[in-house]
Amino acid sequence: MSQSLDDFASSKLAGLERSALRRRLVTTARSAGAQVARGGASLISFSCNDYLNLSTDPAVIEAAVAATRRYGAGAGSSRLVTGDHPLYRALEQKLAALKGTEDCMVFGSGYLANSGIMPALMGAGDVIFVDEWAHACIHAGAKLSGAQVVRFAHNDVGQLAALLERERGKAGRALIATDTVFSMDGDCAPLEALAALAARHDAWLLADDAHGLGVVERKVRGVALQMGTLSKSVGAYGGYLCASAVVCELLRNRARSFVYTTGLPPGVIGAAIAGVERIATDADYCARPLQHARMFTTAVGLPAPESAIVPVILGAADRALAAQALLEQAGFLVAAIRPPTVPEGTARLRFTFTAQHEVADIQRLADLVRREILPRGVLT
Ligand SMILES: *Cc1c(COP(=O)(O)O)cnc(C)c1O
Repeated sequence: MSQSLDDFASSKLAGLERSALRRRLVTTARSAGAQVARGGASLISFSCNDYLNLSTDPAVIEAAVAATRRYGAGAGSSRLVTGDHPLYRALEQKLAALKGTEDCMVFGSGYLANSGIMPALMGAGDVIFVDEWAHACIHAGAKLSGAQVVRFAHNDVGQLAALLERERGKAGRALIATDTVFSMDGDCAPLEALAALAARHDAWLLADDAHGLGVVERKVRGVALQMGTLSKSVGAYGGYLCASAVVCELLRNRARSFVYTTGLPPGVIGAAIAGVERIATDADYCARPLQHARMFTTAVGLPAPESAIVPVILGAADRALAAQALLEQAGFLVAAIRPPTVPEGTARLRFTFTAQHEVADIQRLADLVRREILPRGVLT
């Protein structure tokens, strides 16, 4: 034990507490549909990214159990050594088919995918343009690459065009990185325009579809690097990159977060295969999260949603926490999102809608938000 280290940690935590930014783990048992149990209370969750409720789907669970029984609980080593159990290829082929690419490679998580892809492709003398609101792991991967990182204003195609004009000529390789659906705002990137800019300036486009897959499907030509996660709508765990065969093969050799980490447990891959199969074959079911989000925004009087994520921006962190507590009293679990996850002064409630939410619950939640939360003033 080190006293100076503990003192450092205590004073940092006290600082977070003072600014209402301290976070705490709360044990939450999730069960079928959107039900969760927290501290003896049963709540309906509007804060999970399990948009299709596949993590508790009987077929997905069964696939996880069967794969575990057949191949064991862990992968035993990195995929390049002996951890490449037979289920991996099946999953990668399904994902490549779904995304319309030549090949696909699965990583340990979405975070690991973004931490590995950019450093394997980009380096000193190159330039990466990143939407300022892109996910933390895109910023982390860009930084880790050693390339020059240029942030552009959120979804601002005009500014990106100007930055490309200014910076592209000085660099070797260039990459543009964005989320397809932004995780804290629920809005979508202008992928067609970004792809056109990428083509004009010989830049590669990386789009992170973590919140789009199975919920907001957009087929856009010109996205060379289509990455995403198996941890949200698919209901399992892991990350993926869908790209050309040669790019995937290079990354299998060069992405350090692929080479130097253990393969995913077979049960996780089994579950992911079942989840991806459902997404590939059940369009009506996949349409439901967005329908539910639209039901909510209509009832509250908010702008129409672009995805299954609906933010209600409240401003100060303590206001967001108070709103979260009010909804929890009424039986709803809705996450308050605070800085540094979102910019200072834009703390918010983040509502996520899933396939199995009940219409009556959505209406009751919308009434509460309209009557109890919005009248206190909303920042837009
Ligand atoms: C959740 C998320 C990730 C990380 O994926 P994990 O599989 O949870 O590590 C990456 N990018 C975006 C946009 C995300 O929302």
